Amino acid sequence: MKIRDVKAMALTTGSIFVRVETDVDGLVGWGECSPMNADVLEHFVNTALRPRLIGEDPREIDRLWHAMFFGTYKLGVMGVQPEAIAGVDIALWDILGKSTGLPVAVLLGGVFHESIPMYRSIGGGSGMTPAEMSRTVVAEGLKKGFKAAKIRMDWTAARRDIDIAKDLEMARVVRDTVGEDFVLGFDSNNGYAVASAIKFGRELEALGYAFFEEPIAQYDYAGMARVVAALDIPISAGEHEYTRWQFRDLIEQARVDILQPDVVKCAGITEMKRIATLGSTHNKDFMPHQTQPTLGTAANLHVLASLPHLNLAQEYTGNRPELDEVFVEPLEFRDGRLTVPREPGLGLEVDERKLARLLR
Ligand code: CA
Repeated sequence: MKIRDVKAMALTTGSIFVRVETDVDGLVGWGECSPMNADVLEHFVNTALRPRLIGEDPREIDRLWHAMFFGTYKLGVMGVQPEAIAGVDIALWDILGKSTGLPVAVLLGGVFHESIPMYRSIGGGSGMTPAEMSRTVVAEGLKKGFKAAKIRMDWTAARRDIDIAKDLEMARVVRDTVGEDFVLGFDSNNGYAVASAIKFGRELEALGYAFFEEPIAQYDYAGMARVVAALDIPISAGEHEYTRWQFRDLIEQARVDILQPDVVKCAGITEMKRIATLGSTHNKDFMPHQTQPTLGTAANLHVLASLPHLNLAQEYTGNRPELDEVFVEPLEFRDGRLTVPREPGLGLEVDERKLARLLR
């Protein structure tokens, strides 16, 4: 079997899908890249990765991963390069699954979890009032069946301690809305100074929040280690790390409790599985970052399903009907859980005629 073509395609939804075509009749794999800069990512996949893949056997995934990673690492190992590789790598796993008739989770070692509890996560936090956050994220989430949610502040490392009083009010109002038993996480998107994060984290502990995500700037591992040491609430981070080496540093230096790699950012399923193994070596919990609700979430689910230890609800932004339409059978969300697809590959069959309508 050989790869005949590789093509990244930006959609009008903001998503970036990758299609890998083989020389076996009709056998095509699908992946997804992080939707950060469609022009740059499309170009990277189609010009830097494609020539390294044409004519290769798509089932030799690790070898091709190395060819892509070490063939293009000088173009940047944070951001575009691993995000582009992610789309291809996920498509290669899809091909391997379809060619063997097995779901990706089985190829990764087996299905430890047939369905996975998800927490509701949407952006826009810094622009919302506490009442709006409570209504749009939590109350609507409850109606959809979620039993867990994360509220997000959308601050950044460059805008520190903007409105901590409002953030705390939001955390309180949301807790009041859902009651004690509902699982809540708080994500400050790198927005606090170390001392503020420690003070704020104590409030979250009193309010019974389950985790505190990216409390401070993502590049300040020493500061993060101070926050981790000072607080009992588990600290999560990892959406700004792209490889196992960066996760090694996040674990050893920042000492966070929960690892959050993102399969559409961290060079795909192949590297994410390595990061999961590294995390288990250090007894860390695993709760990947994931904001892409179709191919990205499916790839994430297969990795999660293949991990023996999994005790946290996982990130899900909820389905988007305009994207679901492109798939013969979209992912199934019921009673707060997503079912791990059991069809071969990722288990999401793309209707290419419908997809054509969404091409940018
Ligand atoms: Ca986040």
